[in-house]
Amino acid sequence: MGGHRNIWGNVSRIALRAGAPRLFILALAVAGALARPAAADERRAEISALTARIEALPDRSRLVFDLTGLPPVTAYPVANPPRIIVDLPQVLFRIEANAGLSPVDKLIKSYRYGIFAPGRSRVVIDLAGPAKILKADSEAAAGGPRLVIELAPTSSAYFAATAAEQARHLPAVPPPPPVAQSAKPPTDKAMVVIDPGHGGVDMGATGKNGELEKDLVLEFARALRQKIEEGGRARVLLTRDHDMFLPLADRVRIARENNASLFISIHADTLAASRVEGATVYTVSERASDAEAARMAEKENLADQSAGLESKADAEEVGDILFELTRRETHAYSRQFSHSLISFWKEVGALNKNPSRSAGFVVLKAFDVPSVLLELGYLSSDKDLARLTSQDWRERAAHRAAEAIDAFVSARSREARAPADDPSGATRPQ
Ligand SMILES: [Zn+2]
Repeated sequence: MGGHRNIWGNVSRIALRAGAPRLFILALAVAGALARPAAADERRAEISALTARIEALPDRSRLVFDLTGLPPVTAYPVANPPRIIVDLPQVLFRIEANAGLSPVDKLIKSYRYGIFAPGRSRVVIDLAGPAKILKADSEAAAGGPRLVIELAPTSSAYFAATAAEQARHLPAVPPPPPVAQSAKPPTDKAMVVIDPGHGGVDMGATGKNGELEKDLVLEFARALRQKIEEGGRARVLLTRDHDMFLPLADRVRIARENNASLFISIHADTLAASRVEGATVYTVSERASDAEAARMAEKENLADQSAGLESKADAEEVGDILFELTRRETHAYSRQFSHSLISFWKEVGALNKNPSRSAGFVVLKAFDVPSVLLELGYLSSDKDLARLTSQDWRERAAHRAAEAIDAFVSARSREARAPADDPSGATRPQ
């Protein structure tokens, strides 16, 4: 499957919060915009990006996107690691995955693009060294409209100073959109929140034919939602139902604010060893169950950074005794569901050799919502890739996962009526 379209349906219910702090702009392209009265009309329609390429120049590095219009452009540096962020209004990227990554550039290590927030797109450039922005603008060239970003090497001190100046004026995370509410009227049915990993500018892993983790996990999440809704025991909410970026903290927030009985984050990453295959279910733990789990959590926890957000250490909530009891109980339920999911999943085959693991995944840290991360398989494995791109497999696997979810929420609603069955052995807080 192609899987590289930006799916962006009805977003009217998620509006950007008014009065968001204005960005401090180091390279602003309004001058060009003012000189082009016709551009305002073009901007109203969605602009597409058709191709991307790096152009090798002796004294500078140039990244060019061919566009169908002339959007306003804002660009600025972000440190740790050094990156250049290019913010645009919503642009539809119709670019082949992995396009334009050669020639290898001395400054531009890699770059990615996609939706960052409702109505906003972003290009993130990973730098090989400190760079200054010579130009970041859309322009009408002979071949049509294009976005041109030109960078030149600079000193570490200059880069650090401009990035620090920028950071003072940037919100740490984009203003959170209002939490999506379930479309269905509230009932006493359990709420299950399904979290398709990555999205928008954060593409996640890539398969050898350009398959994208962010697309495959969204398709699986939608199939899973359908199976759960058919079962009729639980309501379902997806943290994202589009190709959009969503910070990790917002995913947790959506689960908590909707009083989820269960939170399932869906992923499909890559590994260096292409022979490793099969699904793995992760729960959260302070110490990782094994080195591979630790690496996976470390990688997943960088999702916000890959979209250009400043990485910031999360302040551990200091718990009182009730908090600790709830957290312990939640962990016990997470592990219980994890074991159940693994035994149901077994019947569609393709379990990892060690399918039950744990590590410090930020996205699993809601202290009061049982949470697991389901790694469907690895895009680096030919066998997993064949399964993940098969609609038949997806239907069967989603069906088994939905059965595990039904069993879990049914058992919990029975326990709610008879609170003695507490798997953690802890006294339930009153
Ligand atoms: Zn992932």
